[in-house]
Amino acid sequence: MPCYRCGTRQSDPERGPSPWRRGVVAEHLVLVCPACQRQAGWADALTACGRCGSRHLIRRLDQVECLDCRMTRDAVPDAPVPAPDSSLADEVARALERVRRRE
Ligand SMILES: [Zn+2]
Ligand SMILES: [Zn+2]
Repeated sequence: MPCYRCGTRQSDPERGPSPWRRGVVAEHLVLVCPACQRQAGWADALTACGRCGSRHLIRRLDQVECLDCRMTRDAVPDAPVPAPDSSLADEVARALERVRRRE
């Protein structure tokens, strides 16, 4: 699974703690590479936990789980992308395009 922002693929086998971060964008699980994590606001497009505000969420089957407070909720099918005039909309739309192309 490549980085949702830049499309870089993970080169190392997934073993031990990975520097890649998982997150959820419009209910899709995404990965963020270490380089993109150094950019300001890299997590802004990620969905935040409704309870603790963490963006460390994962999608698991039909549920979205917060890795910080362990809250789980049902994933929303066909979640709407943020308003088109928001600065994040373009980024999210591009990310979803990449995510959906894999499905
Ligand atoms: Zn990246
Ligand atoms: Zn949480």
